[in-house]
Amino acid sequence: MFFERIAKLRHLLAFRLTLWYAAIFVLSASIAYVMIYFSLRSSIRDRVDEDLFIQSNEFETILTLQGPEMLQRAASIQAQAAGEKKMFFRFFYPSGVVFSSSNMSYWKTIGISRKAVDSIMRGEKRVYTTPIAKNGKHTVRILYSRVSDFVILQLGYSLESEYSLLLSFQRTFTVTMSVLGAVAVAVGWFMARRALSGVASVTRTARRISESDLKTRVPLLHRHNEIDQLALTFNQMLDRIQKLVAGTLQMNDNIAHDLRSPITRIRGLAEVTMINAGNLEEYRQMTAGTIEECDRLLSMINTMLTISRTEAGIGLGILEDLDFKALVWDACELFQPLAEDKGVMLAHQLEDVAPIKGNKAMLQRMVANLIDNAIKYTPCDGAVTVVLEAEDNANAVVLTVSDTGIGIPIEEQPKIFNRFYRCDQSRSQSGAGLGLSLARAIAYSHGGQIKVKSDLQAGSAFSVKLPV
Ligand code: ADP
Repeated sequence: MFFERIAKLRHLLAFRLTLWYAAIFVLSASIAYVMIYFSLRSSIRDRVDEDLFIQSNEFETILTLQGPEMLQRAASIQAQAAGEKKMFFRFFYPSGVVFSSSNMSYWKTIGISRKAVDSIMRGEKRVYTTPIAKNGKHTVRILYSRVSDFVILQLGYSLESEYSLLLSFQRTFTVTMSVLGAVAVAVGWFMARRALSGVASVTRTARRISESDLKTRVPLLHRHNEIDQLALTFNQMLDRIQKLVAGTLQMNDNIAHDLRSPITRIRGLAEVTMINAGNLEEYRQMTAGTIEECDRLLSMINTMLTISRTEAGIGLGILEDLDFKALVWDACELFQPLAEDKGVMLAHQLEDVAPIKGNKAMLQRMVANLIDNAIKYTPCDGAVTVVLEAEDNANAVVLTVSDTGIGIPIEEQPKIFNRFYRCDQSRSQSGAGLGLSLARAIAYSHGGQIKVKSDLQAGSAFSVKLPV
């Protein structure tokens, strides 16, 4: 159970951060310890060496000025004053024979180092050694120095009190660092948990969303930090997803609704014919009706596909330089007979404009949809005007198709570009509600925009702006 919890903890970012934090703390504490310890030790040793050196100089002067007896006496006084357990001396000949020493009962285990004597004999003035006393209790610092041609001095100084200082430093440092380390780990854990609490809240929200609805949002703490940025971005993403899902649901509804009508019609036609038809001619008529409905269905499905592909930015193919004026002109010519049939006057004023880059077939469809709508929703004796002009210092072209038709209610204007949307007043007219969606998709895919201005019963004006 305990190990399972630890294994789980191991994967937590807060736990890892704390671990790193603790590791860095321990490493820096150890480096600090090593540095302080060695600099303390070397400064202690330097001080002791200096003392030993001064002392040996003093002995040398006494020997030269006052002779060996005075030296012996002065050395004994010094050793006694310092304490027999603190300091000792030996005077000996290069052969190793001792001729005078302090009370050595405490220092029995410390002998004369042959190596040091050899170095002195080779001409070295002073040699320091640090042997460990055989009782192992403490270290001693020893100076070998030549005080005259035939006399060598061995002067020893116990490092016991200095080392106990180091030891107490060691203890204090370890205890302080352990306490500080524990506090640092606790604070590190707390800080890491606190810093990551925002992430946990994002995770909780994400979990709740996958379980229930798309309306939940991560609460913002307004601390203006990275976590707030994350929450904000996450919420924005949710907004987009929610819109997309709503759009998809709406489209599913529309598709189901709008495909049902033609299929119901086909079925009705077939049923009536089956029940009533007596001869081949009636069957032929039914077949013709079925084909017509199927064609409408197919065209609807194809248009839906084209809209999706265009909105997704595929299916435009290679763009070519187009004479947009000629394209609009052709479209007006094409719709002239239809307008005349309906008693609508179709006029155009087309300025010369720079060529635009685009897909010809797509742009033809867009222009045709706008002119077709204008004629369709304008009663007899009305007028449709197509205007093409340059804008933005000839960097853009604007095509405006205006009519004097039934107009569009203001509250419905933003919706008419949605797939399958048809205003109530225009339901008597044929159509699937896909023309403007396609026109908008084509305008957008060419880097353009489409707008509508309309007054009910006064007319509408659709304008498309395309970059040159
Ligand atoms: P459809 O014309 O096939 O119904 P559209 O997508 O072309 O579909 O148009 C969507 C709706 O916008 C139409 O059903 C109609 O209500 C409205 N509409 C479009 N163009 C005009 C116009 N020129 N005048 C009045 N209403 C229009």
